[in-house]
Amino acid sequence: MSVLRVATQMGAAARRVPALSRCFAYKSFADPMEHATGLEKRELLAIQSGDPDPFNSNIVERTAGTKDQPNLVASAFDSRIVGCICNEDCASVNWMWVHKGTPRRCGCGHWFKLIEKAAI
Ligand SMILES: [Zn+2]
Repeated sequence: MSVLRVATQMGAAARRVPALSRCFAYKSFADPMEHATGLEKRELLAIQSGDPDPFNSNIVERTAGTKDQPNLVASAFDSRIVGCICNEDCASVNWMWVHKGTPRRCGCGHWFKLIEKAAI
């Protein structure tokens, strides 16, 4: 193999990588805020303003859960489905509806109460 041929092969290989780099050098994914509309836009704005969970969909540790101090469930509607993991070893979730104005007791004894939250 001649020196010229080796240099040509290296040149071809070397040209491929910079060409790809050049294609993507000035491009990136668009900012989701620019494309979002409606509810998605309001969700992104709420997250941007400091509320990391605007729909209160993260898992929350239960509190005492007594009738006087129930677990508070935020909702912008009149009712919401709540899942209670009654025991930490439990393999299933006990799902139930919690309605506004009517605290609900789970089978394990913990109470849940719906509190009103402004819609985003
Ligand atoms: Zn429970």
